[in-house]
Amino acid sequence: MLSVAQAEALVLELVRPPDPNSAAAIETVPLEAALGRVLALPVQANLDFPHWDNSSMDGYAVRYADIKGSSDERPVQLALVEEIPAGTAPQKTVGPGQTARILTGSMLPSGADTVVMQENTQRQGDQVSILKPAQLGQNIRKQAAFYRAGARLLEAGTELAGPELAALAAARCTPVSVYRRLRVAVFSTGDELVALQELPQEQPLLPGQIIDSNYLGLVALVQQLGAEPLSLGIVRDDPTALKTTMLQALASADVVISSGGVSVGDYDYVDQMLTDLGATLHIRAVAIKPGKPLTVATVERPEGRKLYFGLPGNPVSSMVSFWRFVQPALRKLSGRLGPWQPQFVQAIATTQLKAAGQRESYLWGKLSPNQGNLQFAPLGSSHNSGDLISLAGANALAVLSVGQTVEAGEPVSVMLLREW
Ligand code: AMP
Ligand code: MG
Repeated sequence: MLSVAQAEALVLELVRPPDPNSAAAIETVPLEAALGRVLALPVQANLDFPHWDNSSMDGYAVRYADIKGSSDERPVQLALVEEIPAGTAPQKTVGPGQTARILTGSMLPSGADTVVMQENTQRQGDQVSILKPAQLGQNIRKQAAFYRAGARLLEAGTELAGPELAALAAARCTPVSVYRRLRVAVFSTGDELVALQELPQEQPLLPGQIIDSNYLGLVALVQQLGAEPLSLGIVRDDPTALKTTMLQALASADVVISSGGVSVGDYDYVDQMLTDLGATLHIRAVAIKPGKPLTVATVERPEGRKLYFGLPGNPVSSMVSFWRFVQPALRKLSGRLGPWQPQFVQAIATTQLKAAGQRESYLWGKLSPNQGNLQFAPLGSSHNSGDLISLAGANALAVLSVGQTVEAGEPVSVMLLREW
């Protein structure tokens, strides 16, 4: 059985980032529709930034030569020639002995080379006294001080969030070339499963039935990574039905995720049907708890290599396997720059944490700051892998190597699951 590290490395080896030279891998979208997308090409600025010399203060635009000797005792008097509010172009040149009222972000008028902040001035009608000199060029943001038109602003592989979108908008960079969204087919297997959306409100579950919760959970995780889920519903524990859905999924998606049917039970047909379809099975189990049964396979198709994840049916196991193995693969396939692996931090355990059996163990809980340190508190008393409610509040997984016990107050390695 593979270790977690071996399985992770193997999964990442099986996938290639998209090819920026392939037209099929790229699409062009307006910036307003680019949240969460990944740049396929670097982006160059279309404008200098700032676009023109401008003031970084509310104050007065002056000629340095006029004001350099000014002081409280011997203020220099200047004649006000105009006001330049933001959004207007200066109409006059500031000549010797003259000044213009200027506001933060306004264009610097010609003739002026320095801005004196308002606090160091006194105004009476059209006369402005300079009580303290500024340095030459002070309080001016020069044209192109941040970057010039044509400068490379963001690299290919950058994921676009708020700050990146704002930076590109300021430089008038729209539309942008991004990688096509990954299509990820998701389906659940099991005769016991009922689709929540298909169950009429009043209709009770029959004995033995449970709601297909993996479907909503996994589809949401896929969406959070910026991929496009393709929902194929529930497949009965029937080899023919399973094969039909697998074929449909492989034909229409880049990646297929199924849950259930990968253990060694009598009704676990996933591996067998994948083999029937000519898939190569790279992983069949990993020494991890929860999530030991895990199938990772590739299928070569005319349109390219497809990746198949057969996750365990147990709801907690399926999510932990997703976070640990599927997420890095989807990140790499989406064209994001690496690292694609999860991030780990050290935190202080609030209670004793113990690995289970001969497997690397992942215990879910809450990571939070505490007196300058990070602390990890497990959620759910038993860490029973059926406990979805405690998983729902978790933002991190403590990682315990085979046989490891961490006592309360000791450091433990913690894998981040989401912003906190
Ligand atoms: P399996 O991996 O198919 O043996 O399933 C393991 C356990 O997870 C069983 O108790 C199943 O009932 C449960 N399970 C499987 N699939 C799902 C699902 N889609 N949603 C909720 N529970 C599931
Ligand atoms: Mg099953």
